[in-house]
Formats: sequence, structure tokens, C-alpha cells
Amino acid sequence: MKYPNTYYASTAIEAPSRPVLDQDLSVDVCIVGAGIAGLSCALELLKQGKKVAIIEKESIAWGASGRNGGLVSPGWAQGADALEAKLGLKKAQHLYDLSRQGVEMVKSNIEQYDLKNCDVKFGGLQAGRYPQREQLVAKQRTMSEKYGYHLDLLEVEQVREVCRSKRYFEGLFSSEDFHFHPLNYCLGLAAQIEKLGGLIFENSAVLNAQKDADKHRVETAQATVSCEHVVFCGGGYTGSEMPQLKRSFLPIATYMVLTEPLGDLASQLITKEYSIKDDRRAADYYRLVEGDRLLWGSRITTDNQTNEQRLAEILREDLVSVYPELGAVKIDKSWSGLMAYSGHKMPIVQEQSKGQWICASFGGHGLNTGTICGTLVAQGICGVSDEYQAFAPFGCDWNGGVFGPIVANLTYKYLRMRDQQQEAKAPL
Ligand SMILES: Cc1cc2nc3c(=O)[nH]c(=O)nc-3n(C[C@H](O)[C@H](O)[C@H](O)COP(=O)(O)OP(=O)(O)OC[C@H]3O[C@@H](n4cnc5c(N)ncnc54)[C@H](O)[C@@H]3O)c2cc1C
Repeated sequence: MKYPNTYYASTAIEAPSRPVLDQDLSVDVCIVGAGIAGLSCALELLKQGKKVAIIEKESIAWGASGRNGGLVSPGWAQGADALEAKLGLKKAQHLYDLSRQGVEMVKSNIEQYDLKNCDVKFGGLQAGRYPQREQLVAKQRTMSEKYGYHLDLLEVEQVREVCRSKRYFEGLFSSEDFHFHPLNYCLGLAAQIEKLGGLIFENSAVLNAQKDADKHRVETAQATVSCEHVVFCGGGYTGSEMPQLKRSFLPIATYMVLTEPLGDLASQLITKEYSIKDDRRAADYYRLVEGDRLLWGSRITTDNQTNEQRLAEILREDLVSVYPELGAVKIDKSWSGLMAYSGHKMPIVQEQSKGQWICASFGGHGLNTGTICGTLVAQGICGVSDEYQAFAPFGCDWNGGVFGPIVANLTYKYLRMRDQQQEAKAPL
């Protein structure tokens, strides 16, 4: 297995290397990309009796799925209010329900297949960076009344009892949200897929896919897969093999670091094993792992910084601004990952042409949504459900070409400035 130097790779369960695709193959469905969307799709297809091959250009969950924050919660990258404004309440509620089903599926896969070392811990806190009790009460009510999602309001002292920083004010807590080890989850899912007869190939980049009579021909450097359906699940790492998808999203980077063991300082600063994120437009998200190490994520940008030392410096700044006590802390690992964001911030889930499917673009909320969308695409292929049509309003819109990243970065800078202005007014 070849993975970037992440916390997850260093604590991954043992897994065999999968072969390179070097012989032509015929299957019912070929899936491009072994992230959480591709794996979830494959699992459901196999349950429905299909013959499936997954073709991965690197290793299983090498992309965002194996290097993310590990926070699993309902919702989409696009907010419930925006979805309601666009589609009306009923459709927004339906989408929210689907997102919750995604959370449940991850949980039940771990239990049902007894997936090892997923390190599931419950409890997610969203902590405000400035006082906004009234807005949080309103959000709590909306989420409960419209979407059936229960959140506890925590007062400033209660939030600061969990994360002892003067940067935080009121917050919302969910006991249903959980966090876990996403790479071990994906590796476990891959083993389960193989048990059900699925084929997985690594180090096999798909170069293109052509329609040939009534079959699709999916080509890698060494071999061709002939199939009735092909599903593109390449996420933010999609390339020219799927041009329509490539020009419909922006690859947006976000960064993570792992600190050295903090000893007693860890529990002095963070008293629960919850996941914590703040309410900024580009949130800080973090949690303790191995008892006393901080796994911290933040920032979003189209300029993907991959230099580990530079990443450590950038994120140390964020970390210390919340916990000044960590000024001298050693950063043991730092990495970046790419998420696919479409302009509408919703996934692209559609049958693009007969037998050619797209299931991608989950933004920063892909663990539950990649799971449910992969499953719905599989059910669409098998004709057992047409619920994937719920995503028909979110198509392959143009990503702005060369201007897309410029606009995205300017927007991010503007939103960051707005956050800073609001926070500047907060009492210290
Ligand atoms: C640092 C970080 C933190 C995040 N934190 C969270 C979080 O806490 N909670 C949450 O819900 N979401 C989070 N996300 C988002 C989430 O990880 C993603 O939305 C989700 O994993 C996307 O899954 P995917 O299967 O679509 O894509 P990926 O996981 O990126 O998988 C795509 C796979 O396709 C492969 N591929 C691409 N092109 C080809 C090709 N031509 N041939 C063969 N294979 C190909 C890639 O190698 C890759 O393995 C985070 C993302 C990052 C980067």
C-alpha cells in the first residue's frame, strides 16, 4: 500500500496489495475510484447480485476518503436552508433524510461486517466563535421541527468545559454524530467487497471510457474492462478520463496535522472525546486520537500546498490561535487532501448517458453523502430504486474554467475576513 504520510496510514490495519489490471475483463459494472463513494456503490451492487470491478489509480481510499477529519454527521456540503430555498421544504427534507441514512449506513456497516479498528466515538460539538445564542436557538428549533434532528444548546461555560478556549462561545451538540478512522473503514469495506466476489485493482489509472455498441470500454494503460455500466467516482482527483465531470467541479484542498502526544495537557484543554468544529465558513475541525494527540484540520483553498513543513506552520498558527498553550507543540504529521466542490455545493449523481454514471463532488461532507449516493446509484443501476433522481436539480454546471479557482479563493478570503470581523467583536 502506498499512502501519503498521514495519521491514518500510520495506524492502518494490515491489508493486501491488490493487483494491477493487466488483463481484459468483462463485468456488469466497472467503478472508477475506490473512495467511499465507489466502495459503497460496489457493496450495494454486489448485494444485488452484479459482477463488479473497481479500478483505482493509487490504493484503496488513497484520496479524500482515507485522509479526512473522520467526522460523520447528517447534512450536505450545501446547507439545509439553501436547499429549502432552492427546492422547497419537502424536497429539502427528503435530501436531509437521505443524508441521515448515509450516517446510519456507515454505522451499520461497521457493526454488521465487524470492521476492525474503526475507533468509533460518539458526540459532535459545533462551537461558536462569537456570541450568537439567538441564532443557535433558532437553528436548534429549525433542525428539530423541520428535519427531526436533535441538537442540544450548550451555554458558553458548557462549551468551554469541553474545549477550554476563550475563543469559543455557545454551541450545538449532537450525541448522534460520531467520528472514526476513515481509512480503516474503507479497507474493511474493500475486504467485504472481495468476500462478496467483487474485484479490486490498484495502481491502475483509468485513461478513458468509450461506448462501443451497447457496452462501455474502460481503458487503463494495460487492459480494458468491458461493462454495461461505468460509474465515475474519482472525487477531487478526477482527471481528463471524465471531461464532463472534470469541468463541473473545483478541486479544493483542506489540510490536517497530527500533534505529538500532549500528555496531561490534552485532557486539560479538551475534556471529552467528541469531535469539535467551529462555525466558521471554512471551519477548524478536530478531535483527540490515541488519548492525547490532537488531530486538527482547517483551511480551504484551490492552491494545494503539499510541503509538509509549510503545512505544519500554517496549521500551527490556527491551532495556537485557539489554544495558545500549544505554542511549542511538535507537529508530527501534516498532509493535504482534495475535495470536489461543484458550484451548487451538492453532489453530481446522474446517469449522464446510457450506462455512464457520475457519483462525485461531495465537498467537505462526503462520509455520509458519498455512502448514500454510491448506494443510490447502485440501486438505480439495478432498477430497484430511482431515488438517485433526487439529485436531478444538481447537474454538471461549468466550474468557471481558469476563473473558477480565482473566484473560489477570493470568495474564501472574503468569507474569512467576515469571520474575522465577527470574531473581532467577541469579548475576550
Ligand atoms: C483533509 C480532508 C478532511 C475532510 N474531513 C471530512 C470530514 O470530517 N467529514 C466528512 O464527511 N467529509 C470530510 N471530507 C470530505 C470527504 O473526505 C470527501 O468528500 C469524500 O471522501 C469523497 O469521497 P469520494 O469517494 O468521492 O472521493 P475520494 O475519496 O477522493 O476517492 C476518489 C478515488 O478515485 C481515484 N481516482 C481518481 N481518478 C481515477 C482514475 N482516472 N482511475 C482510477 N482511479 C481514479 C483516486 O485515486 C481516489 O482514490 C474531508 C476531505 C479532506 C480532503
